Amino acid sequence: MSMASPIDSDLNGVVWTRTLKEPIKRYPALAGEETADLVVAGAGFCGLNIALHAAKAGLNVVLLEAGVVANGASGRNGGYNVPHFPGAVTPSAVEATIGRKKGKALAELVLGGADAVFRQIEAYQINGSAIQNGWVQPAHSEASLKKIRAVYEEWKAWGADVSWLSAADVADRLGAAGYLGGWTNPSGGTVNPYGVALGLARAASQHGVRIFERSPVDAIEETAAGAVVRSGTSLVRARKVVVATNGYTGDFLPQVQRSAVPVFLYHAATKPLGERLRREILKTSLCFTDLRKSGGFGRLDDDGRLISGGAVFAIGGRRAYGLAHARKRLRQLFPQLSEADTEFEDYWEGYCAITDNYLPHVQRLGREIFSVVGFSTRGVNLAQNLGRVVGEFAAGRRALDDVPVQLVEERRDVSFWPLKTRIARLMFPVYQAKDGLGLT
Ligand SMILES: Cc1cc2nc3c(=O)[nH]c(=O)nc-3n(C[C@H](O)[C@H](O)[C@H](O)COP(=O)(O)OP(=O)(O)OC[C@H]3O[C@@H](n4cnc5c(N)ncnc54)[C@H](O)[C@@H]3O)c2cc1C
Repeated sequence: MSMASPIDSDLNGVVWTRTLKEPIKRYPALAGEETADLVVAGAGFCGLNIALHAAKAGLNVVLLEAGVVANGASGRNGGYNVPHFPGAVTPSAVEATIGRKKGKALAELVLGGADAVFRQIEAYQINGSAIQNGWVQPAHSEASLKKIRAVYEEWKAWGADVSWLSAADVADRLGAAGYLGGWTNPSGGTVNPYGVALGLARAASQHGVRIFERSPVDAIEETAAGAVVRSGTSLVRARKVVVATNGYTGDFLPQVQRSAVPVFLYHAATKPLGERLRREILKTSLCFTDLRKSGGFGRLDDDGRLISGGAVFAIGGRRAYGLAHARKRLRQLFPQLSEADTEFEDYWEGYCAITDNYLPHVQRLGREIFSVVGFSTRGVNLAQNLGRVVGEFAAGRRALDDVPVQLVEERRDVSFWPLKTRIARLMFPVYQAKDGLGLT
């Protein structure tokens, strides 16, 4: 994927395209004029769920995608379905940020969200390689042990089905070295995210959503009846519009693009591990993510490939740098791996969108024109469940005040956005150093 043009419709190098079990269906490009109750821009997890749930509630929906379904972050993420906020963000911190009522509702959405994703996959018989065998947040340092203990205590007090794990428990469950303890929630798990998104597109189109691929929205004009959404010389007249372009928002909508920093991440997959290693490493197919800024996470895919990654260091050979880091990290986590076990078969990159407070928001762009972005690294759960809620709002099934994220009424750019966007691509060595010093 080029940094200049982030939309890569071939999903080059993405392991999920070759382990895919859901069929690929292509959709036509928009041609001429259409009318709809609702236009959704962006066919990732968020846009697909908005479209699906609005159509289920009776709206006539058009979904416009610049490339192809799920060629953004949704088809290229790690597939960790995590019932928790990003990093060490606690439910009380969320309440402090977005207020008590919305904070509680968002915590509930996140806590039940991983399970809801698995239930939706089942309901639509999506071949998404879904495995609900739990998620662990282990501590790689004394500093992170304190943070995750606080997170665990809050979810426990909330009534969540969470358990604390000793260092020995973590070592046994993960087959990993060096962790000081951790906590687990059994409702988490893993998916093939590309398969899930393709299945959602199938479900949405069965509910009557008209999906158009290779149809980038390049202008949205407010009208008395709603809006005219343009893609080249074609257009859709609609009563409502929701933009769900997350880290891929181009400069056609600077007020959305600059409301979150697009962070460039990579993932890599090893060749399938041998039988002996599979008896030791993630033997029950659970997944884990720690608090290392330079990436400390692991899962297996259907064939036993180990998947790891981090932020892209955008100087020189991005791929070589990323693979060297992933190899080093995996061998540190799993000393039983040899150099040959960490030969990578796949390397790929993608953008996620990170807001100042690590939480997504809805922005009002017009009377009936909204955007929803900022899913950080929790989109498998949060982008899908918030997408469902926004779809219900678009269909009049819930009030805007019942969408449990901040409503931004005015333009609110991330401060120093151009600088932060550039710096984000150079930060990886700093993250590695902080992790190495035990500061994270
Ligand atoms: C490498 C990587 C690993 C990650 N790992 C995880 C993980 O394991 N677990 C997790 O929960 N989250 C993870 N995330 C985050 C997660 O993938 C995202 O939060 C989530 O996919 C966001 O979904 P979305 O629908 O909002 O955006 P996207 O999936 O990015 O979709 C946006 C879509 O908008 C389209 N678009 C852009 N401009 C236009 C336009 N003008 N008109 C029409 N369409 C347009 C794009 O082509 C794209 O398809 C990861 C992200 C990355 C990049």
